[in-house]
Amino acid sequence: MDLQLKGKVILVTGGAKGIGGGIVRACIGESAIPVIVDRDATAGKQLQRELSNAGVCGLVTAELSTPESCAQAIAQTIQTFGRLDALVNNAGTNDKVGLEHGTPVEYLASLQRNLLHYYCMAHYALPYLKQSQGVIINIGSKTAVTGQGGTSGYASAKGAVMALTREWAVELLPYKIRVNTVMPAEVMTSLYREWLDTFSNPEAKLQSILAKIPLGARMTTIEEVAAMVVFLLSGQSGHTTGQHLFVDGGYVHLDRSLS
Ligand code: NAP
Repeated sequence: MDLQLKGKVILVTGGAKGIGGGIVRACIGESAIPVIVDRDATAGKQLQRELSNAGVCGLVTAELSTPESCAQAIAQTIQTFGRLDALVNNAGTNDKVGLEHGTPVEYLASLQRNLLHYYCMAHYALPYLKQSQGVIINIGSKTAVTGQGGTSGYASAKGAVMALTREWAVELLPYKIRVNTVMPAEVMTSLYREWLDTFSNPEAKLQSILAKIPLGARMTTIEEVAAMVVFLLSGQSGHTTGQHLFVDGGYVHLDRSLS
């Protein structure tokens, strides 16, 4: 299937590594022009270098927790490439600001780290997405529908991401801008590794999780999440908007007692 993404400028927040890095690689694989926006400058430069023979990849180093840094990231992208065809809101941190172990100030800071930039990036990207009849993909998390315990800030940010996907899909209908959310559950990345390492026996915890994943008792790969994202970026998904697509081996919705 030709996804016809050649030459499309696709901004990926948190694109230096993990799921975002996989999306950047998949975009290069489709001859698109991904722009990594990430606070991890070392990982961003490394990925950009690695991809330099395969195509054009932009890089903006930014901590996205303020509106100003989001505006700057969009401005830099436009300055370099002159257009924007898609925004992938992906950067996030499961920062464990809980109800019992957390404070209102920490909760607000978690929303700023995990949610505010989804809105700000879409807000500042909108004039350019209107010009390109572009696409917005948000990366959510199963945590928004299953809960996790001890992570109120992250869970509520991801719940809001699901709501905003519907809200923006409606608001942007007149511009033919599609908006969808991809919902991963268990994907081995540095974020996931850090979370796993908070358990006293991380390997035993991992094995207990794997046993409960209905399709194949395995983690979802970064490439499987990225493949869904590039499909949703492409015109091949031209009549899909306002959807929450779970790429999780059936972890959230299937009856685990049957597997
Ligand atoms: P990751 O491996 O930590 O990669 C995320 C990248 O984004 C990192 O380079 C990180 O930098 C950067 N980043 C985070 N917050 C940022 C900010 N405010 N400004 C700029 N850069 C920022 O994480 P991942 O596992 O790929 O997660 C990507 C997305 O998938 C997140 O939204 C996460 O909630 C979602 N998700 C992941 C899983 C999973 O199983 N991995 C499951 C459900 C949902 P640092 O390294 O400095 O933090």
